Amino acid sequence: MCTRQTPIRRYAELRSDGLSRRAIAAAVSSGALLHLRRGVYAEAGACPPVVAAARHGGALACVTAARHLGLWVLEATDDVHVWMHGAGHVRAHDPCACRPHWDDVSTARGFAPPAIAVVLRQILRCRGVEEFFVALESSLRQLLLTAADRTWLHENVNDLGREALAFARSDADSGLESLVRWRLRNHQLDVRTQVRVISVGRVDLLIGDCLIIEADGAPFHDGASQRHRDLRRDAHAAAWGYVTLRFDYALIVHDWPTVELAILAYVDRGLHRSR
Ligand SMILES: [Zn+2]
Ligand SMILES: [Zn+2]
Ligand SMILES: [Zn+2]
Repeated sequence: MCTRQTPIRRYAELRSDGLSRRAIAAAVSSGALLHLRRGVYAEAGACPPVVAAARHGGALACVTAARHLGLWVLEATDDVHVWMHGAGHVRAHDPCACRPHWDDVSTARGFAPPAIAVVLRQILRCRGVEEFFVALESSLRQLLLTAADRTWLHENVNDLGREALAFARSDADSGLESLVRWRLRNHQLDVRTQVRVISVGRVDLLIGDCLIIEADGAPFHDGASQRHRDLRRDAHAAAWGYVTLRFDYALIVHDWPTVELAILAYVDRGLHRSR
């Protein structure tokens, strides 16, 4: 993460921040400032996507801004989503893998990223409701959304976005868990999160009384010792009458029909109810 909130500054901003012409020239030749293009400078150490967005003529937007803020984003992509404001000027630069966004909402400074509620709406429009929901729950969990932000979102998204807002909670533990809850929402299941199960500890999701769903997200679930711990958890759970279904990132994100069929097959057999 960049050390400054806005590591990109125009010449006039550097001057009004108290740097003399000579100090700016010295900072450029010492490498403390990077001269991106005429009149635009980056702090040394600014994150590559922030610099790419500035070269393109804007600020971070959408999923790129969300990841930069530390929110969950489902799909890693190298595309830089750039906020061009209402009528920014696209600059040629190389290499350019930018996805421009044109929301017209004001901020104090040209290269400052949009407010988090705006970022979330960009995700909804650009990537759809699932990515929106995941990033939304992540920002709720990190207490990054004010009541005013939620009201603004409510008034500025579509019906599906409002459904996501109503369904979102602030205690989701991972993007995968959010995604599973969202995708199961129409099945009338009793889905609880972060339940403590005797002899096992906290599980990701509990359906009914005793169907445990574990969502193993990279990169924490690698290696033999983690596998041993998981098997041990499952064995303890089984001993206490629980059934565990365990899915990984690739299955949940890319092969949801298989995951859904597995869960519903267990539910149809009543395995989620204690007898
Ligand atoms: Zn950064
Ligand atoms: Zn986007
Ligand atoms: Zn570009």
